Amino acid sequence: MGILRGIADYMTLQRHLYKYSREKIEAYQQRELRNLVDFAAERSPFYRDLYHGASEDFSSLPVINKEVMMENFSTLNTCCLDRDEVMAFALQKEKDKDYTGYFNDEYVVGLSSGTSGNKGLYITPKEMTRRLPFVFLARSGISLKNLPFRILFLLRVFSQGFADIRAPFLLLKYMSTMTEVDEIIDALNAGRINILMAPPSMLRILLPKRDQIRTPIDTVVSYAEVLTAEDKERFRIGFGAKVIEIYQASEGQLGSTCRHGSLHINEDLVYVELYDANGALVTEPGTPAARMIVTNLVNRAQPLIRYEMNDLIVLGEPCPCGSAFRVIDRIIGRHDDVLYFTNKEGKLQHVFPDLFSRFLITESDRIREFQVIQAGQALRILIDCPDGPEEQKKIREALMKRIPEELRQFGIEQIKLVIEFQELKLPTDKSKYKRFLTTGSSVTS
Ligand SMILES: [Zn+2]
Repeated sequence: MGILRGIADYMTLQRHLYKYSREKIEAYQQRELRNLVDFAAERSPFYRDLYHGASEDFSSLPVINKEVMMENFSTLNTCCLDRDEVMAFALQKEKDKDYTGYFNDEYVVGLSSGTSGNKGLYITPKEMTRRLPFVFLARSGISLKNLPFRILFLLRVFSQGFADIRAPFLLLKYMSTMTEVDEIIDALNAGRINILMAPPSMLRILLPKRDQIRTPIDTVVSYAEVLTAEDKERFRIGFGAKVIEIYQASEGQLGSTCRHGSLHINEDLVYVELYDANGALVTEPGTPAARMIVTNLVNRAQPLIRYEMNDLIVLGEPCPCGSAFRVIDRIIGRHDDVLYFTNKEGKLQHVFPDLFSRFLITESDRIREFQVIQAGQALRILIDCPDGPEEQKKIREALMKRIPEELRQFGIEQIKLVIEFQELKLPTDKSKYKRFLTTGSSVTS
């Protein structure tokens, strides 16, 4: 494990984040983009064809997405990996619930489940995964004042690429989110963990057990799923810890928290283009971007260049920390999580998932988890609440009143609403917990 390499990475990433001016970042990005495009055109048959005769202007290069990437996986990657072989490997691992091992002893394979039924394959060279913990550290807003770092990292995907690290100032222990909760609590206590990294769905499971955690947790790092403002506050109070967010996807390390607590785009790791519905660049805070196109600047094994993501984000005001990296005010959620209703004028009206979550979560802090299943104007809401029928009745009554009221504000009427209580479990494979489902479309998760 290259601790020294890791420390060098840490210093570089810190310098980019806090010392680079906007001009310097843009120059850096342009240089990296040119190198990446040249590399891809030389080493990837897919990009060679795609860019044949294309203009020099980066922003006019063709946009790809997950479907295109998967269709052309074998010729897109620069390691001559065959899609069917990598997929068979990943599916077998998932079936065996064995998330260790490398493909060809060289690559960590990530498998994302898509709502449209197609799974995405993401490969990361072994060498690169070994450097990732330091990227997390440099870009997590965790201050060196927290030394020694004793970190428990709960991963949906477990892989040998993430071997436990034990150094005098750093303990990094990895566990799968599929581990029994009591076993996780034991690991927290045994390692005297002060930094807990987990997806929000996992943090919601740990929260009711907080009394059993004996060492105070300084920092909770949330990643892999959208962190709502309400959950953030709930974790802050519940764990008595600072809560920071990492915005990370299979496609790259998109954003992370600075020392001031804002979420910044990792401008030196990903190049993010935001456009409105008319194709104009979105640069102003407060406007949800209709399209988000990312280019991963660091993964050359599987170059993702002008790759359209499904996420909806809103930029924020410049941050007092002084970093020139753009600020993300909030991640609204995924495009396919947006709820669409017919309003009283017969037009389609959207409700963003973060707003709908708020209707539920702010109604009662006894709601541990929920799932919204939509079929047209009919909503079936499943709620996991550990309390007895008395509390459940209160929640049901409050929501039966609140949700139609809230939706009426958007001109949405004639809603059919069903609220049911049941235990909601995290997916047993590597997929993310999905809070919003639409039936009647090709929903598979
Ligand atoms: Zn900042």
